[in-house]
Amino acid sequence: MKITTFVKGPIDANNYLLVDEETNEAVLIDCSSAEESYINEIKQSGVNLKYILLTHGHFDHVLGVDKFKKVFGTDVYVSKEDLSQVKLVPDMMQMFAGMVPVNISDINNFVADGDEFFIGKTKIKAIATPGHTQGGICYFTGNSLFSGDTLFQGSVGRCDLLDGDFKQITESIKNKLFGLPDAVVVYPGHGPKTSIGYEKKYNEIVNL
Ligand SMILES: [Zn+2]
Repeated sequence: MKITTFVKGPIDANNYLLVDEETNEAVLIDCSSAEESYINEIKQSGVNLKYILLTHGHFDHVLGVDKFKKVFGTDVYVSKEDLSQVKLVPDMMQMFAGMVPVNISDINNFVADGDEFFIGKTKIKAIATPGHTQGGICYFTGNSLFSGDTLFQGSVGRCDLLDGDFKQITESIKNKLFGLPDAVVVYPGHGPKTSIGYEKKYNEIVNL
């Protein structure tokens, strides 16, 4: 499986394009921009974009979904609990980024804990990790974890926004993510990648 990172949108969110090289089927984890050059790059790569999987409903991770749906005909998945966050996107854009608000169309496909998605024979498993939002989802495949705004290198997602809960996020990380092997590479929603082993040892916020 090939992983390409795109840093896009108003708050530099990481979007990850995972491609199964046998079948050329692909999944995009988070979709934070509808910029033409971004869409063209994915078009020109010739992949078959099968799913767009959202880690959560915050505006800086979802701003491209309507355009991508239209251009690629791809289904977008979010957790049911985070639908309310998607509805708040226009307010959040104004409040946190001073941006002109954009409405995101209803998302009708839902992902829940334990769900599995396939690109070719490559399995991607959803792990619910509430705390940053109530519907936060991480995606696990092979030796890679896509952690959204749950776990960052040396830090965790902020919990002071609507529906955030610090106790819950640290429990999600300790009980679910830290049960994965140390060698698993963690690709967060913002910033550089890390590993489960490194965070277990050095993440002072989780270990407070
Ligand atoms: Zn967020």
